[in-house]
Amino acid sequence: MIRNAFSAMSIDRRFSISVAVALLPVLILCGRLVVHEWHAYVVADGALYAFQSYRAGLQAIERVSAERGPTNSALGEDLPTPEARRAALRRARDESDARIEKLIEMLQASRCPACDGDLARIKEARNELAGARANVDQLVRLPLAQRGERAVSSAVDGMIKVIPQFAPAIDALAANVVKGDTRALNCLILATLTADLREAAGQLGSHFTATLTARRALRQEDQLAIERTEGRVDQLRELIDAHVRDRSTLESTAFDRMNQLYFGEGIAYIAEVRRLASRSGGAAISPAQLADHYVPMMRPITVFRDQVLDLAETEIRHHRSNALALLAASGLAACVLLAILLSMATLFRRRVIRPLLDATHVIGAIANGDLTAEIPAARYRGEIKAMFNAIGVLKANSVERQQLERERDRLIHELKATAETDFLTHLLNRRAFESRARASCAERNTAEPELALIMFDIDHFKKINDTYGHATGDHALQLVARLCLDTCRPSDVVARWGGEEFAVLSRVHDAAEALAIADRLRRRISETRIPFNGKDGFTITASFGVALASACDSRDVARLFRHADRLLYQAKEAGRDRIVADPIGVPSGSA
Ligand code: GH3
Ligand code: MG
Ligand code: MG
Repeated sequence: MIRNAFSAMSIDRRFSISVAVALLPVLILCGRLVVHEWHAYVVADGALYAFQSYRAGLQAIERVSAERGPTNSALGEDLPTPEARRAALRRARDESDARIEKLIEMLQASRCPACDGDLARIKEARNELAGARANVDQLVRLPLAQRGERAVSSAVDGMIKVIPQFAPAIDALAANVVKGDTRALNCLILATLTADLREAAGQLGSHFTATLTARRALRQEDQLAIERTEGRVDQLRELIDAHVRDRSTLESTAFDRMNQLYFGEGIAYIAEVRRLASRSGGAAISPAQLADHYVPMMRPITVFRDQVLDLAETEIRHHRSNALALLAASGLAACVLLAILLSMATLFRRRVIRPLLDATHVIGAIANGDLTAEIPAARYRGEIKAMFNAIGVLKANSVERQQLERERDRLIHELKATAETDFLTHLLNRRAFESRARASCAERNTAEPELALIMFDIDHFKKINDTYGHATGDHALQLVARLCLDTCRPSDVVARWGGEEFAVLSRVHDAAEALAIADRLRRRISETRIPFNGKDGFTITASFGVALASACDSRDVARLFRHADRLLYQAKEAGRDRIVADPIGVPSGSA
């Protein structure tokens, strides 16, 4: 049923539906491609945002680690704490707070709902940091001698323990980055290792705080803690070296500087402090002096970490730009493809379908005889123009044929009229008259039941020719013919029977009516003057025979003619200029 309905549609409509059906899968495929590329771009953009949060996280950890330098210095100073130490501690804490606030802001604005747990953990770490700072402040307010060694150790550990609280959030952010851009994995591992190195290096210095504050020698447990941290530092160094070997671009000045300054001078300095602090009576170095000397040596670690992060960010941004370019290219390609298909369809419709419909219309009109339809050949080119030109030739042929047919019909009509008409008088000739008479004979008319045949012959016409000339004779015949037409009714049939003989066929009610017609004719002929040489001329007379038939067939018609002729002859015999009428109709069986 659908197939029949489709077939019944116009070709234009069927074409439109077919194009729509063909375009639909292309549209779906293009849509899927664009959506896929859009999704890839959103993931890449998310990776960049996650990376920026991750970087903010590492910077927050670094600031909290760095805060331990001025903290340890303040713990090692006796009252009154020098203003420079207090100011350095305030500055370090402000910086930590600012970094933590920035990280919290980024996590809150994050488009990752799964990061809510990390946010809660960061806030918890912030609270723990506040608690650890309160412990430190409490101790710093006491004179140096009253700061219990255990209390100082516990305050330093409190600051150290804050750091691992950040780790899960940082790991989760790193995982989000890798989800969006897997190639960032190596750089992120390296950055995390470097950040861990910075933390371990910081812890290494912090292990001396309690000992140096108490101005005593390192105990067994301190030595163990220092060795554990040194082991961790060595382990991290090896891991970092292994990753840098994989990425030659990272073997940079910053990497060399880290190796030279921290792993060279920094580690050597710690070894020297440890040696001095291992002696009885301690090292005679304050925590502030250690921090002042040691902290700058850790600086290249952060510089190298930032370089790794910069590289990672460049790659992630590049990946995002590629995703955006792919999205734009696929969107553009989809639009161009659809535009090409649509314009091809429109062109095909304009160049083929429409002309086909126009051609069908024009050919149909020509076939139906309407030759007024305009041929739009000028609008087209190539084969279509040739087709319309051919239709134009077809139309011209049809116009010509139609004109020829009209001319033929006119000629046939003229020929027929000529064949039935007398050339001199323009009345019907004898043959046409006989045919009309046969047709009239077969007709039934109750109002006028009788068929009257009035025949008349001009008297002594030969003499007129002889006296006035043949042309005058012709003119006389023409005048008589006009007079007959004027006298008879339109329904009567008037003819030139031959020579100077005329016949009138008339439907009448009875013989008297036929006689009246004949007499009226006779009188008007005799009263009419035939001009001659521009003068009054002469008159003529005619003799009439009037025969009647009430019902007749073709044989009766022949008899009717013969009978009328006989009656005419009788009128001649009786002296001319008179009528001999048949009062009783056609004598049956007379020959
Ligand atoms: P009647 O009274 O007995 O009829 O005598 P008539 O002279 O009229 O008859 P007749 O048959 O002897 O002559 C007829 C003449 O009519 C002879 C012929 O020249 C003339 N006639 C026949 N046809 C024409 C014609 O077309 N033009 C002219 N001018 N004369 C014609
Ligand atoms: Mg005659
Ligand atoms: Mg005559």
